[in-house]
Amino acid sequence: MAQATLTIDLSALRSNWRNLNSMTQGETGAVVKADAYGLGAGEVAKALMKEGATTFFVALTEEGVALRKAIGSGPVINVFSGHMPGDAMALRDANLTPMLNSIDQMLNHVETLPGHPFGVQLDTGMNRLGMEPAEWSALRDIALSQRPTLIMSHLACADEPDHPMNAHQLQVFHQMTDGLDVPLSLSATGGILLGPDYHFDLCRPGIGLYGGLPFVEAAPVVSLDVPVIQVRDVTPGESVGYGNSWVARTPARIATIAAGYADGLIRAMGPKAHVWAGETRCKIIGRVSMDMIAVDVTALEDVPETVEMLGMHQFADTLADAAGTIGYEILTSLGQRYRRRYLGA
Ligand SMILES: *Cc1c(COP(=O)(O)O)cnc(C)c1O
Repeated sequence: MAQATLTIDLSALRSNWRNLNSMTQGETGAVVKADAYGLGAGEVAKALMKEGATTFFVALTEEGVALRKAIGSGPVINVFSGHMPGDAMALRDANLTPMLNSIDQMLNHVETLPGHPFGVQLDTGMNRLGMEPAEWSALRDIALSQRPTLIMSHLACADEPDHPMNAHQLQVFHQMTDGLDVPLSLSATGGILLGPDYHFDLCRPGIGLYGGLPFVEAAPVVSLDVPVIQVRDVTPGESVGYGNSWVARTPARIATIAAGYADGLIRAMGPKAHVWAGETRCKIIGRVSMDMIAVDVTALEDVPETVEMLGMHQFADTLADAAGTIGYEILTSLGQRYRRRYLGA
């Protein structure tokens, strides 16, 4: 079998949630947008429900509908993109809570779904989603009279603890919400690590649950083991892969492994990335192709049946560094061709 295996350790996921939850006084939800960062929203949410998580966040109404089918009627499912035109029936039938981002969304919501739960997203400076301070002042009394379930905002620089933007956004959030009798939420993973001033009533971690930075102490959740298809010896002067971009200078042994950029192992990581064969780090050489990658296994006595692309030795952030991106992008790019295996379900 040439199919690589993506293993998702739900016990590690649960332990990451417990650890993040123990850092805060209030409630801890979970962000499971983009299919739980590529790991499977249904499986992830069900595992976290066993730990006591009752509030989930998705980006789109459509994701919320699918999640509702998977996890049943109990938990709250909040939708970051809010109430978009055409979403009313789906929001109602799946009992999703849109985080309203604008006056337009608010008007559309109260018109099409009067009495249906909603939250409000405020913009405290990121300028991505949410009502700006002036908009919020105009709408605040009407919105509050409809009893929002949550008021939230999002930090732009929480992964940089010393960035002045954090304190600035915190201050703006206070100005916009102090004295309100509504649950408040400001922090994702990064904000949790900034400390209690940032926690309010509900935190919404995503990446930290899945083992990614900035949660340095996270347990690894994802392993990706890729079969070796073929091994060959090359002599000095021979090239490997497209474009002859790698040429052997000394006698070398090359393994061809069965995953490539179509599986989310992006081409840009090629020249700097490694895989692990047991305890030995082996360099990726030449260009990453669509379905295959070449690895220098000269140092190995025995070439194993599979090599570790992600796992105990190497997190998504390591591969991300090699490609000039972030762990989030590596995880959400992981392809559909892998055999998926859940541990601890
Ligand atoms: C994605 C997202 C989160 C989760 O962020 P992480 O950095 O993955 O913890 C929380 N809130 C909002 C609004 C988001 O878009």
